[in-house]
Amino acid sequence: MREMEEKILKEGKILSGGILKVGSFLNQKIDVIFLKTMGKEISELYKGAGANKILTIESSGIAIAVATGMEMNIPVVFAKKHRTSNVDGEAYVTRVHSFTHNEDYQVVVSKEYLVPSDRILLIDDFLANGNAVNGLIELVNQAGAEVIGIAAAIEKVFQGGGDELRAKGYRVESLAEIEIMSESGIIFRHNLSRNG
Ligand code: 5GP
Repeated sequence: MREMEEKILKEGKILSGGILKVGSFLNQKIDVIFLKTMGKEISELYKGAGANKILTIESSGIAIAVATGMEMNIPVVFAKKHRTSNVDGEAYVTRVHSFTHNEDYQVVVSKEYLVPSDRILLIDDFLANGNAVNGLIELVNQAGAEVIGIAAAIEKVFQGGGDELRAKGYRVESLAEIEIMSESGIIFRHNLSRNG
């Protein structure tokens, strides 16, 4: 999506360790006009795919998931992150390794909110190594539901998670796919590139 690539080039800040900061429009301050555009785009991409629910992970996936849910008129469920394992039997639980914080945490969804008949669209802000999305897939599997697709605002292709999921047969749609990110700039997989 051209607007997303342009937004990253204009406002994104490249931090050490392969982290892109997009606090000015997605992760801390939210550009609501652009958020609506992102929601519309994902909703268009998955039109007719039969999703009845969106699943995301707190906290930075929630905004884009809700924007998409409002376009598709379907509910959004977000998995909660817990540092400790004080979870009762009424929840689906798995462990995820956080790329940005370099620690493991538990990801939890109440059993009431995922049911076997669900056809789930998974959404997150970033797709990097794929740990967060794989954790969400695990929760959907525990519920006996189906993942119909995955969407991310920004995929860091160089970390491989998105392509691994595609190789497993999942449909993955990312609004921007960063192929290379270095001090000298960003190159997207779909050819819009610029230095700086
Ligand atoms: P993964 O689990 O795919 O390795 O990483 C995805 C998760 O880590 C996302 O939920 C996102 O919050 C966070 N993340 C990964 N890479 C970045 C990044 O470059 N910038 C930011 N802001 N978050 C990231």
